[in-house]
Amino acid sequence: QQQDAEKETVMDTQCPFCSVQCTMQLLEQRTGDRKKYKVLPLKDTVSEGRLCIKGRNAHQHTLHKERILHPMKKVNGQFVEITWEEALFFIKEQFSTLQEHDGPDSVGVYGGGSLTNEEAYLLGKFARVGLKTKHIDYNGRYCMSAAASAMNEAFGLDRGLTNEMEEVPLAECIILAGTNIAECQPTLLPYFRKAKDNGAFIIAIDPRETLTTKLADLHLKVKPGMDAALVNGMLKVILDRNLHDEQFIKERTEGFDEVLKQISGVDLDAIADLTGLPREMIEYTAVTFASVSRAMVFTARGVEQQTHGFDTVRNFINLVLATGNIGKPGAGYGAVTGQGNGQGGREHGQKADQLPGYRSIENPEHRNYIANLWGIPEKELPGKGISAYEMMEKIADGEIKALFIMGSNPLISTPNATLAAQALKRLKCLVVVDMFVSETGRLADLLLPSSSYLEDEGTLTNLEGRVTLRRAARSCPGEVRHDWQILCDVARVLGKEAYFSYTKAEDIFNELRVASKGGKADYFGITYSRLKDERIYWPCPTEGHKGEGRLFSETFARPNGKAKMLPVINHVPKERTSESYPLHLTTGRVMSHYLSGSQTRRSPALSARQIESFVKIHPKTANAFGIKDGTMVYVDSSRGRMKARGAYDDSIREDTLFIPFHWGGEQNVNNVTYQGLDPVCKMPGFKVCAVRVSPVIDL
Ligand code: SF4
Repeated sequence: QQQDAEKETVMDTQCPFCSVQCTMQLLEQRTGDRKKYKVLPLKDTVSEGRLCIKGRNAHQHTLHKERILHPMKKVNGQFVEITWEEALFFIKEQFSTLQEHDGPDSVGVYGGGSLTNEEAYLLGKFARVGLKTKHIDYNGRYCMSAAASAMNEAFGLDRGLTNEMEEVPLAECIILAGTNIAECQPTLLPYFRKAKDNGAFIIAIDPRETLTTKLADLHLKVKPGMDAALVNGMLKVILDRNLHDEQFIKERTEGFDEVLKQISGVDLDAIADLTGLPREMIEYTAVTFASVSRAMVFTARGVEQQTHGFDTVRNFINLVLATGNIGKPGAGYGAVTGQGNGQGGREHGQKADQLPGYRSIENPEHRNYIANLWGIPEKELPGKGISAYEMMEKIADGEIKALFIMGSNPLISTPNATLAAQALKRLKCLVVVDMFVSETGRLADLLLPSSSYLEDEGTLTNLEGRVTLRRAARSCPGEVRHDWQILCDVARVLGKEAYFSYTKAEDIFNELRVASKGGKADYFGITYSRLKDERIYWPCPTEGHKGEGRLFSETFARPNGKAKMLPVINHVPKERTSESYPLHLTTGRVMSHYLSGSQTRRSPALSARQIESFVKIHPKTANAFGIKDGTMVYVDSSRGRMKARGAYDDSIREDTLFIPFHWGGEQNVNNVTYQGLDPVCKMPGFKVCAVRVSPVIDL
């Protein structure tokens, strides 16, 4: 009896599933051969001791029997286990042969927004120094690129939130535009509840009703893709009624006259027509927002994943600037990041146009700084590459012949996924680094087993721009290696060992600190030893610096210190509904799943909460198309078809369907989504496309 007594291991760790980065303790209790797990939240992060269902069950996928534990090579259509040295030799042989024949850019690298800062940094260096290719981009292109480019343009700096979350309850009015915080970042919801308790008026902008819109005092059920026009309507009301902050505009911004000129031509009735919202509702919203002294605007993918996402975010920033709502407590702008390291993942150089520290790959000074740090001549540093979707096109064209994917599942997450499937199948060599055989992994020639959040050490940057250190809670199972080790190993066989001689994640972080020094995202003052005791905001230029929680109190990060306003036209989505495709489709998340679901669908507790995809449809629309509640339907666009169960929802717009994006195969909504790109940030138009719906008839 006694030998069966419980033994307990306590592991401190951090949830990998969203940008809040809640911390927790995982308790492993062993009785004989049986193991039980218990999760306890820790109180030391922005979520103040709260965990959502994803965090409470995150460990389940890491223990799943389908974890890849050895390198595996495809032989005659089947994966077979091979040694690491065989795997590395295979990569060297394949990549070197292709690059000798077709040049360095024949190999591409594709990263992810869930990688740690160290891994994101090293992946960028690996592409440019290890492989000498310009082709690197990552799945964050589909996530944060619109908000990041808009903030950079307007403020000279892109950090998710301009304020600490602690300031949200100070706001008197809050706009939540295209963000479903209640399901995507549930542990942040109490900040908004507290604001409401303090008397704040909350306005939600979303074509459908969600748990977040239910919290709001006013829900604007806007037509999909018409958010920029809605903001123009609000600006028209504010400027016509002199509700703008003249002094702030004069002293702290530029470009207002052009905005004023644009807005003077705006017709409110036309805006009402475009947005599908009553004119009085737009007027009421504008007056309410502009009449308080502290207001905040939060945007997310609903308004950003559009073919004019950059301009839409710019217009929300115009609203914030026109009313002087930035740089003071309880007033500011925030883009609510989705991925586990959505903020850090976009700062350290895994983007086609970017070097570490948010440096530009086209700026000679920036190139010199990084080339010197990396110990290569500046002329050997490749130039600007292309965005994630454009990479898929180049693969489909046969120009990129091999791809190295780390931390992403593009077969599911790429819009117009049929093209992604055709492209990936055309590759001469596909290497996928992952924990599981994902849908993309099934197409791979080589699979390399990578570590999970429980095994990784490294830093992450949360949606506020606060850097945390995640310690490894246990060692890697089987022959699993950390992503950074895999990059160093591949670099070694490619003859680049001298540039990748790290022995631990901290070595990489120390190089990243120098790489970021003096850049827009300055981490130089942040060290592992400081992170043992604190979570530090960037910019943090020196070790004595506390980091900045609230940005732009006195000046913006642009050369003249002023924020830039920009006139935005009444954009309409590039793809309009038609007789053949009469409905709008919009996409999003459900609480129990993360991204392509590769991890959460392997967590029994999470999977059980939402086992399959669904199509939200208004009952009137369903009747018109002969669809019964709970029956299977096809959704078609000019690009392809998906199939899922119809689910009646009388709160969604009658002209709009909603489908979550966590499933692959015939349930993959990206079989039908629109691949047109925003001209500035290259964000695809995921959130609005034209579709038709029909019942599945079993013959
Ligand atoms: Fe926290 Fe986000 Fe994880 Fe939920 S998914 S526990 S909110 S980090």
